[in-house]
Amino acid sequence: MLHRLRELGLSVRVFEKGDGVGGTWYWNRYPGARCDSESHIYCYSFAEELHEDWEWSERYPEQPEILAYLQFVADRLDLRRDIEFETEVTSATYDESSSTWTVETADGERVSTRFFITAVGCLSKPFRPDFDGLDDFEGEWYHTARWPDEEIDFGDDHVGVIGTGSTGIQFISEVGGRADHLTVFQRTPNYAVPARNRPLGDEEYADIRANYDDIWERARDSRLGMPFDWEQHTAFNLSDEEIEEVLEERWQQGGFRFLHAFEPGYILSNAEINETISEFIREKIREKVDDPETAEKLVPTDHPYGSKRPPMDYNDYYGTYNRDDVTLVDVDEAPIEAFTPDGIRTADDHYDLDTVVFATGFDAMTGALLAIDIEGRDGQTLEAKWEAGPRTYLGLGIHGFPNLFTITGPQSPSVLTNMPMAIEQHVEWIADCIAYMDEQGYDRIEATEDAETQWVQNTNMLAENMLFSEAKSWYRGANVPGKTQVFTPFPGGLDNYREICDRVAGDDYDGFELDRVDDAPTVEGR
Ligand code: NAP
Repeated sequence: MLHRLRELGLSVRVFEKGDGVGGTWYWNRYPGARCDSESHIYCYSFAEELHEDWEWSERYPEQPEILAYLQFVADRLDLRRDIEFETEVTSATYDESSSTWTVETADGERVSTRFFITAVGCLSKPFRPDFDGLDDFEGEWYHTARWPDEEIDFGDDHVGVIGTGSTGIQFISEVGGRADHLTVFQRTPNYAVPARNRPLGDEEYADIRANYDDIWERARDSRLGMPFDWEQHTAFNLSDEEIEEVLEERWQQGGFRFLHAFEPGYILSNAEINETISEFIREKIREKVDDPETAEKLVPTDHPYGSKRPPMDYNDYYGTYNRDDVTLVDVDEAPIEAFTPDGIRTADDHYDLDTVVFATGFDAMTGALLAIDIEGRDGQTLEAKWEAGPRTYLGLGIHGFPNLFTITGPQSPSVLTNMPMAIEQHVEWIADCIAYMDEQGYDRIEATEDAETQWVQNTNMLAENMLFSEAKSWYRGANVPGKTQVFTPFPGGLDNYREICDRVAGDDYDGFELDRVDDAPTVEGR
């Protein structure tokens, strides 16, 4: 966004809480952290020079490599000179008379700006359950999303990990065998599909480079922002054996290619085929875990495959439970009651622990935005407006909050896609919109109430027709006690969403109100 706005000749200041670039990949340094999107598409597509001078080493990039990539991009595009690091934005207030925002930082600095753009991420405010007794725990504890920048030696420790989402699964398979004992506190099992990670060979890489234009075109024009094909759109007319064959082939390919066995929207809306796929994965889990009782605990039955974000298995996750030094504790059956000075007490036992790792996720989608005290027109706060769940138009604009753009905001495809594709689409749309406003002499843009209401209804309706409502997921805010539960990302596909956004822009920003503010001071180049 910074790069694009500079290209438009605007003056831009970026505020960043961390002391370096990287966002998610700056904060999530836990052992095993790796991206589930394939490396060659988990990067920027807009500048060819970035592809020419960067080479990914593995099919899925590890956290240090992604962080190094983002540092490389920041250097190459000379971004750092406009970024204020270690600076937390605490509030942003809209002033109607001048049509400007005043952004305030924790240091007390106040900046006046015509446009206020948030790029705070969808999964950036960590969530940690409020267990009794944590203050009295005499061991060490960490949250995976605030991992220290130093190697932690678990060698002699009894380590406990709470959470078996994407993060927990990566951590558990990496640390199983590296600690004296690992105890996994699992509330809900998940469907982990083998990622099939491997180094990227020279020939394969040359092929990727030679075909990048085509790869990006296919990724942009896809539901999930990934350039993968499916052989059969649906499973209609296929025999059980043929379906099994397709699934087995995709299982061998691994990662998100498995989700492309059939068109992903179909998998997520057809309960019957979804159950076939879910059962296929359950059988794989049973095959991998030696102890049948442990295997059954690891088999998910409470939600359909894909109704929660599907995690990947990089390192024989299920095989980890065959080790003598790894124990699975079902805290759905016997919940965690409290921390004690020596460990964790559940409803039916006590576990002695030296170290506890919270892999308990995030206050997703809205948490980081609401952590900023945002006040729009007529003194309305975003927190009050979103009390019953987020309301946006296209996940880009909010009625009552003029000249605020939210990159990957609620009700945009964001987390249901390969994120860089969704981010680039938003960045391009916002930059084009600002350029249009300047050409036409507009000072202010605001989503209309009607357009916003229709968009929210549209998103909800699409989600209701899919299987998402059958899972207690962070997509719906169900992981944070007391949070209003509403499905938040736009589930209609990045390809369809892009078309809608293009039509809106082509129609003079249909659904937005654009106007001039006669007495607004001219803020040159901002
Ligand atoms: P998550 O999916 O929300 O998982 C949190 C885990 O903590 C769940 O297993 C949850 O159990 C458990 N938990 C929460 N509160 C608990 C409590 N009071 N008692 C016991 N267990 C509790 O969070 P995450 O694993 O950090 O992943 C979040 C998202 O980040 C992913 O879905 C993915 O989109 C992204 N991510 C991506 C990558 C990647 O690309 N490689 C890696 C990591 C994360 P319940 O399921 O029962 O709520």
